[in-house]
Amino acid sequence: MFAVEQTVENVKSYSIDGLKARLTELGLPAYRAAQILQWIYLHHAQSFSEMTNIAKKDREQLAALFSLPSLSERAVERSVDGTRKFLFGLEDGHCIESVLIPDENRLTLCISSQVGCQQACRFCLTGAGGFVRNLQAWEIADQVLSVSRMLRLENEHPITNIVLMGMGEPLANFDEVVKALRVMTAEHGLGISPRRITLSTDGLVPGIDALARSGLRVNLAVSLNASTDEIRDRIMPVNRRYPLRELLATCRRYPLEPRKRITFEYVLLRGVNDSAEDARRVAALLRGIRCKVNLIPFNPFPGSAFERPEEPSIRRFQQILLDHHITAPLRESRGRDISAACGQLRERQQPAVAATGRE
Ligand code: SF4
Repeated sequence: MFAVEQTVENVKSYSIDGLKARLTELGLPAYRAAQILQWIYLHHAQSFSEMTNIAKKDREQLAALFSLPSLSERAVERSVDGTRKFLFGLEDGHCIESVLIPDENRLTLCISSQVGCQQACRFCLTGAGGFVRNLQAWEIADQVLSVSRMLRLENEHPITNIVLMGMGEPLANFDEVVKALRVMTAEHGLGISPRRITLSTDGLVPGIDALARSGLRVNLAVSLNASTDEIRDRIMPVNRRYPLRELLATCRRYPLEPRKRITFEYVLLRGVNDSAEDARRVAALLRGIRCKVNLIPFNPFPGSAFERPEEPSIRRFQQILLDHHITAPLRESRGRDISAACGQLRERQQPAVAATGRE
């Protein structure tokens, strides 16, 4: 799959306009660009030889000029709740995870944006393992393409929603993530509506502003997890750079389309951020922001320093938010019988590499 010579260019690194320009430079017709990208993203072709509406001689020439790499599927785990976790191998031997989550009428794919993560959130297995490297745009988009191809081969329903909530902080790999989002949303790409894509950040303020300026109207989710700077500093080091006041000011100015709202994620940690007072402070912090709060009771992983709160504290926290007219659904970690925390599957399959994962 990765039989690529150094000088050969990865065709998946091109947008339609970029590929047209490159083909023209190479003396090939520009209209081939649309044909090639249609074969890749619509028909899921994995080699130029499959592109049968292109003359054989031209296909051979394209195969000599360009590579057409794909992620390699290393492992799949299936949960009794229907969740599937994929481990994909990269060209340099590292691995990343993607998780496919069925939920009523939705089939959501959670994808990774980095190998490991620098953000070091204390409740996260990925954060504990450190950072290896940024993913390239094609490696991000190819998680969607690879799972879509597999679903089609199995005659299953296609993916309906994408969340960038797997390994890594997407806004710390801004340029490649934006390129990948353009591939995912482009007509000559995966053609997914930006309304069905959610980018989740731990709160990199300049990145949120840059995302707003990018014009990509994807949904924004922010990992909040605390009601005071003191608590957030302790569990999310990013807060020391971008404290709550700055983060929430950025959220207030984020351009939301009508009927859209920001999602705040709140991982409930027993005795850390789950008190009634925390809930009241969260409600006060979010006043005036069109939002909902996803409450995620912590799902302990081996070696984690935190515990899941008792059920009554979880319910009390939720009720206080509801009393303040904040939508606050409880989200249980899916696939709890498989490697539930992001990074667990990778850690098991690749123990020599820095381990990672996200709740
Ligand atoms: S929660 Fe997200 S941003 Fe924080 S360490 Fe884990 S992967 Fe990185």
